[in-house]
Amino acid sequence: MDIRSKLAKLSEEVEADVSHIYQQIEMNSFINHEKVLNAFKEFRVSDFHLKGSTGYGYGDTSREILENIYARVFGGEKALVRGQIVSGTHAIALCLFGVLEPGDELLSIQGNPYDTLEEVIGTRGNAPGSLKSYGVKYRQVELLPCGELDWDAIERALNHNTKMVMIQRSRGYAWRPSLNISGIKKIVQFIKKRQPETVIFVDNCYGELVEPKEPCDVGADLVAGSLIKNPGGGIAPTGGYVVGRADLVKRAANRWTAPGIGDEVGPTLDYHRLLLQGIFLAPHIVAESLKGAVFASRLFQRLGYEVSPQYDEYRTDIIQAVALGNADKMIAFCRGLQSASPVDSHVLPEPDGMPGYEDAVIMAAGTFIQGASIELSADGPIRPPYAVYMQGGLSKEYVKLGVLSAAEAVLKTEKNN
Ligand SMILES: *Cc1c(COP(=O)(O)O)cnc(C)c1O
Repeated sequence: MDIRSKLAKLSEEVEADVSHIYQQIEMNSFINHEKVLNAFKEFRVSDFHLKGSTGYGYGDTSREILENIYARVFGGEKALVRGQIVSGTHAIALCLFGVLEPGDELLSIQGNPYDTLEEVIGTRGNAPGSLKSYGVKYRQVELLPCGELDWDAIERALNHNTKMVMIQRSRGYAWRPSLNISGIKKIVQFIKKRQPETVIFVDNCYGELVEPKEPCDVGADLVAGSLIKNPGGGIAPTGGYVVGRADLVKRAANRWTAPGIGDEVGPTLDYHRLLLQGIFLAPHIVAESLKGAVFASRLFQRLGYEVSPQYDEYRTDIIQAVALGNADKMIAFCRGLQSASPVDSHVLPEPDGMPGYEDAVIMAAGTFIQGASIELSADGPIRPPYAVYMQGGLSKEYVKLGVLSAAEAVLKTEKNN
């Protein structure tokens, strides 16, 4: 049988294998749809809230409504949701610089933080203006070899200067399990019991609206993420959010503009409707992405590759990792996926350096919004285990087409060797 017929047959079998998982995804998605709709109703969104402001953006009630909706959906007292927050890293940096002062200590309890945060913290590179250059101390507790948290080491690492504990919900570019909401709850209880004053910060990137609860619902103090990932629903053209305890969100807002100005300014321009429509659609788009990830997981597992998570594993983020074993297959996967994109399908991805990332990275992203990883995309640093991390997709069918195209390209490299 040729590669394409083999894949078509396998694809049908995979759909049958995973249909019960699709049902679970739909159940969670329904809960999140209801949560979002209730917030729209509670804050009485009207036609005139769909327009944006200009200049300083003083007294923009449409902006307030959007932020109230985020606060409600994400279980925080207050939210900062702005198009002028340019990325997830920016939103996270606002939280770190807003809360931490010279002499304070930041503690990561899952080993290395996400690549771009290393330069923010100052553990890699020498970027002027890092936390380290301001006298904020940083320590990290490594994960156990099995990928679990090292509770004894966390207990030892906590001290009275530990102003903030940093948690990452999704796996990022690491071959390790994600941290689900019940895991976050355990951490919050563990830390708060010992040091109630320590701020628990969660990098929520890729985790939004996957489970029926969010980090603030289980006691996290401050949470941040990107609008061109899950909560923008594939519609938001730019932006980031911070949500959590009101005093802490205010500190992040003072960092975002200037102390004293905080969140009182910020024009919503021509894209305000898209941010509202984005969060409205987000529960559905996240579910489509998840179904696509589950399909990819089972397909590549059946093709003999190591995948994480397994198709039937509990999920808290939309990322699917596939270990391909060598650089050629990573490149083939990304090229196959790219060729099934709506934009730039003719472009051939090449590994290259990226600002904020240490190793060369290969990326496939034929998206309407530049870099939007809630749209189908795949990327990974060229380093063992040569894993691609794929995520997103505006419809499960488009993900399926992309994944089948990627699989075909990978199988062709096998044939050549
Ligand atoms: C995407 C992401 C970020 C931020 O990335 P940006 O590219 O700056 O938006 C941070 N942490 C994790 C875990 C992420 O997935």
